[in-house]
Amino acid sequence: MNVVCVPSKALLRCAKTAAAVRDAHEFGVKVEGEVSVDFGYVMERMRRLRAKISPVDSAKRYSSQLGVDVFQGRAAFTGKNSVEVNGKTLHFAKAVIATGGTAAIPNIEGLKESRYLTNSSVFNLTELPRRLGVIGAGPIGLELAQAFCRFGAEVTVFSRSEKIMPKEDPEAVEIVKKSMLKDGIQFAFNAEYKRVEGSSENEPIKLFFHQGGEEKILEFDALLVATGRKPAVSNLGLESAGVEFDGRKGVLVNEKLQTSNPDIYAVGDVASKYQFTHMADFMARLVIKNSLFFGRDKVSDLLVPWATYTDPEVAHVGLYEKDLQERNIPYVTFKREFSHVDRAIVDGEEDGFVKIHVAKGKGDIIGATIVGSHAGDMISEISVAMQSGMGLGSLASVIHPYPTAAEAIRQCGDAYNRERLTPTIKSIFHRLMALRR
Ligand SMILES: Cc1cc2nc3c(=O)[nH]c(=O)nc-3n(C[C@H](O)[C@H](O)[C@H](O)COP(=O)(O)OP(=O)(O)OC[C@H]3O[C@@H](n4cnc5c(N)ncnc54)[C@H](O)[C@@H]3O)c2cc1C
Repeated sequence: MNVVCVPSKALLRCAKTAAAVRDAHEFGVKVEGEVSVDFGYVMERMRRLRAKISPVDSAKRYSSQLGVDVFQGRAAFTGKNSVEVNGKTLHFAKAVIATGGTAAIPNIEGLKESRYLTNSSVFNLTELPRRLGVIGAGPIGLELAQAFCRFGAEVTVFSRSEKIMPKEDPEAVEIVKKSMLKDGIQFAFNAEYKRVEGSSENEPIKLFFHQGGEEKILEFDALLVATGRKPAVSNLGLESAGVEFDGRKGVLVNEKLQTSNPDIYAVGDVASKYQFTHMADFMARLVIKNSLFFGRDKVSDLLVPWATYTDPEVAHVGLYEKDLQERNIPYVTFKREFSHVDRAIVDGEEDGFVKIHVAKGKGDIIGATIVGSHAGDMISEISVAMQSGMGLGSLASVIHPYPTAAEAIRQCGDAYNRERLTPTIKSIFHRLMALRR
């Protein structure tokens, strides 16, 4: 809650407002005088909201209301059924490892000695850096890059490849990139990092890199490292507990989320390739069933949607087109551009789409990507359809309020049903209609 989702989304909300004011003229709204963002206020607001939410996650609530004995401190296993915290040894019948992850810091000369930022320090900033460099073009880097750019910083995002969000649907990524370029973000693609200089507060941070055969240097007032996360497996005494782990994959678990020690389970970022809060939540639910109530639930049965909260948002569930092609799964794609959806047109949010892949000849939804203003909220409708085995054709018969962006999902359903009409049925309909005229 302190250094990940909550503060980042609080900043993004302010950034969205800044962009709305910047673009107000597109809606006939005149904003007189200079518009600027009070960064101090933005950060204060974020801390205030974090404090407002914090009672739900607090140790106090767990101990006084939920009946959990909370021991605050760094815990480490001392044996197969014991753990030590603050010098106190506790014995357990079952245990769960939920230590999450930390920012993975790339091996760039001078970086570790420089005053770089990660997600755990960026939210402590009190002044807006005039020039911000962001190493890493994944969801975390891009969300924060867009926020800081909209607050008024000059932002450069570095990527080792020629892509941003390399795992996402390429068409969706293009739309996000276009929006970020409109914000004024600079991208440095195919950057080969050489060295970082700058450890004292008074000097700029210099990033030396190679790009297209040229040696380049860029100077920044702050440098954010957002090159992925690494599982928190160090100093946990995993060896004493007989728990197998890997520095990259984290704690190794089976389908029931059990580690190599059958009394110890693991959930969340420390044991999953899906590093999302909702995934950690559902892994935890699964472990409660499996460890305490003789459950046999499998983690691979979880259908996991996710979203990146750039503006526009990108949300996804199921398989991507590239997965379908790699696995030779026959599929058909139905895509509805928001430029054909009335609500998106009147909202001035035409850049985006809903794309749904169905199993060829069956209609079962096997994957979907949405890029648009509320993609993160909209993807749940498709997740519900997938989880309940409701095919795309059935989604067409669900009445959606007009005008909403979610109509695009129903319209994909309509397109699917139209596609199902064989030439024979089409010609029967035509003849029937001709008779009725
Ligand atoms: C900037 C940012 C934005 C993000 N935004 C989103 C988002 O919008 N939506 C989303 O779904 N996901 C988001 N994520 C990912 C999400 O934060 C993680 O997937 C989620 O927090 C994982 O939960 P977890 O419980 O596994 O681990 P964590 O939330 O990391 O919690 C692990 C806890 O264990 C503690 N711990 C570690 N070692 C020990 C020890 N030895 N003893 C005692 N305690 C220990 C840690 O201090 C920490 O409190 C974001 C991540 C980042 C970095």
